[in-house]
Amino acid sequence: MSHERLKGNVIRYDSRTLIVTELHSRKHYLCDMPGRFKKLGIKPLVGDVVEFIPTGDDTGRVENILNRRNELKRPRIANVDQIVLVTCLEEPGVPFYILDRFLVLAEYSGLPTIIAVNKVDLLKSRRALLDLYHTYGEYYNIIEVSAKTGYNIDLLREVFKGKISTMAGMSGVGKSSLLNALNPGLKLKTSDISKKLDRGRHTTTRVELLEFDFGGYVADTPGFASLELPEIEPEELKNYFRDLRVHSGYCSFSDCVHVDEPGCYVKELVETGDIPTTRYESYRKIYEELQEKHKEKKRWK
Ligand code: GDP
Ligand code: ZN
Repeated sequence: MSHERLKGNVIRYDSRTLIVTELHSRKHYLCDMPGRFKKLGIKPLVGDVVEFIPTGDDTGRVENILNRRNELKRPRIANVDQIVLVTCLEEPGVPFYILDRFLVLAEYSGLPTIIAVNKVDLLKSRRALLDLYHTYGEYYNIIEVSAKTGYNIDLLREVFKGKISTMAGMSGVGKSSLLNALNPGLKLKTSDISKKLDRGRHTTTRVELLEFDFGGYVADTPGFASLELPEIEPEELKNYFRDLRVHSGYCSFSDCVHVDEPGCYVKELVETGDIPTTRYESYRKIYEELQEKHKEKKRWK
């Protein structure tokens, strides 16, 4: 038995045991966390890169958790590379407002975001797509796909390849179908080692990373499912709308929130159609919600 340190990604864990995928062989190891980690208050997260020493053919002992590049709150994952936001224009026709809300959450997380428009097989013309490109295309990468026909699934595979991703999007847009199209049987491919993991009653809802055959991971739980807004000051909201943010500097007041201020360049751009009305309406709606939340908080202080 060699005692060289190996590195791997944590894909599942419970209070005592982790399943770690070794970076090169992609073999699974059932690893123990020595008690000293717990004493120091150090808990692993799915997505963590750990160093471990093999103690058997498929077992090991964690020696070190490497510094996290980032940590997503919902679902709780470390070292996330990107968010793939799934939407569609038919069955269901996802309102732009919902998309805008997801985008605020994605922007708040600071992660690169790709918009995947699924179910394009249902579209009779490209009109609705053009509208979507007009609204988001300048600021986000958009990829049109169909889980049903397989259209552009190879391109989407390139997006996921070698990365840790989370998928977000309204229920029914086809997130599971897309995962299945990308990698048939993905969810079923849990190894024997998973069965050895002691998952007590308390741990069953914990997020796991699914492994693509072509390399890369995706969280088994969609992101931002509740669409609950984070603690953003209403005045800060403009920074989470990329299209508003880039123009903010041209308003008469440097702290313009683009609501009632005179000389607001953003409102001018809404008038001329350079900023889509739907985006501005979403902004106002979320702004007001944040204001309400803010007032509520003050009331209870
Ligand atoms: P999720 O809730 O986002 O995971 O969505 P699902 O993957 O469960 O899909 C919801 C429904 O949409 C199912 O009935 C799928 O068969 C259907 N669906 C998914 N992708 C496509 C697609 O590309 N085209 C069409 N026509 N239907 C799809
Ligand atoms: Zn303004």
